[in-house]
Amino acid sequence: MAEEWAFFEGEYVPISKASVSIKTHALNYGTGCFEGIRGYWNEEEEQLYLFRVEEHFERLHRSARTLRMNLKYSVAELAEIAKNVVARNEFRSDVYVRPVVYKSGAIVGLSMVRRDGDTTVFLPDDFFLFAVEFGDYLDVNEPIKCCISTWQRVDDNVMPARAKATGLYLNSSLAKTEAEENGFDEAIMLTSDGHVSEGSGENLFIVRDGTLITPTPAENILEGITRATMIQIAKDELGIDTVERQVDRSELYVADELFLCGTGAQASAVAEVDHRIVGKGTVGPITGKLMKLYFDIVKGKSPKYADWCTAVYPATVGVTST
Ligand code: PMP
Repeated sequence: MAEEWAFFEGEYVPISKASVSIKTHALNYGTGCFEGIRGYWNEEEEQLYLFRVEEHFERLHRSARTLRMNLKYSVAELAEIAKNVVARNEFRSDVYVRPVVYKSGAIVGLSMVRRDGDTTVFLPDDFFLFAVEFGDYLDVNEPIKCCISTWQRVDDNVMPARAKATGLYLNSSLAKTEAEENGFDEAIMLTSDGHVSEGSGENLFIVRDGTLITPTPAENILEGITRATMIQIAKDELGIDTVERQVDRSELYVADELFLCGTGAQASAVAEVDHRIVGKGTVGPITGKLMKLYFDIVKGKSPKYADWCTAVYPATVGVTST
C-alpha cells in the first residue's frame, strides 16, 4: 500500500513518522481541539471537493482561542495544508480530514501554563493534520434508530461546549458507545435541565406542522457547520424558516420528522426514538428534500453553492475538438 502522508510538526511526513511522546499533555489530559472536514470525490469532474473548509478552520481558531491555545497558521494556510495532505495521498474517493491543535509539551501537571519568575509561560502547542478515506458514518439511505442517552450533554460551564475540544469528546464517546451497546444507531443527549441538545456527533432538527425546529446554541450544542448549511438551504431553496428554540424530549416522540446532521454523519433521517416511531418511520418529505440538496451541494454539483466547495486538484482542462 502507498505511503500515507500527514502534516506534523511543520512538515509533510509519512504518517509512520508522525508520533508523539506518551508524556504529551494532550494525550494525558485531553488538552486539544480539532475539526472534521469532509472531502467528496466528484467522479465526472475527477475532482475532490473539501466542504466549507474555511468555516471549519475559523471554528478551529475559535476553539483554540477558547482553550488558550496558539494556532500559528492562518485560515488560508490551514486550508492549503488540508489540500496538500489530501493531494499528496492522491485520494480519489470521499475523505475525512482531521486537523488537531494540541498541547504538545511533555509535562506532568494539569496547568497549561508555568510560572517563570514574574511571567506566565504557556506550554507549547502544536498542530497536525491527516486525512483518511471515509464512507458513511451513519446510514444515509435507511432511517436510523436513536435513544435518549443516560449521559447528559456537557454543560458550557463544565467544559466549553461550543469549542470542539478533544477531551470533551469523552462525553460523546460514552453516549455513542452506550447507544450502540443497547442496539441503537445513535444517542441523543439532553442538557442538565432536561432539554434536547444534540446527537453524540450531530446537530438535530425536527419538523412539526411544516416548521423546522432546532435547539438554540444556548443548549450546549456544538454550533455545527452542517446545521448552518441546513438552515440556509431550507430558507433559500425550500422557503422554510428554521425556529431555534428549546426542544423537549417528548417533542421528539411526536415530531412529524426528525433528522441528525453533521460533517461525519452528513444527514440521516431518524425513524425511531426510544422505540417510538417518528412520523411514519420513513424519510419525511422535508428531510428528504434537504438531504438531496445537501448531497448535491457537497459533491460540487450545485453551481449556486460552488463557493462552499474547495477543489483539491488542479482543474482538468477539457479537450474540445474543433
Ligand atoms: N455536534 C457534535 C458534538 C459534533 O461532534 C459535530 C461534528 N463536528 C456536530 C455537532 C456537527 O458539526 P458540523 O456540522 O460542524 O460537523
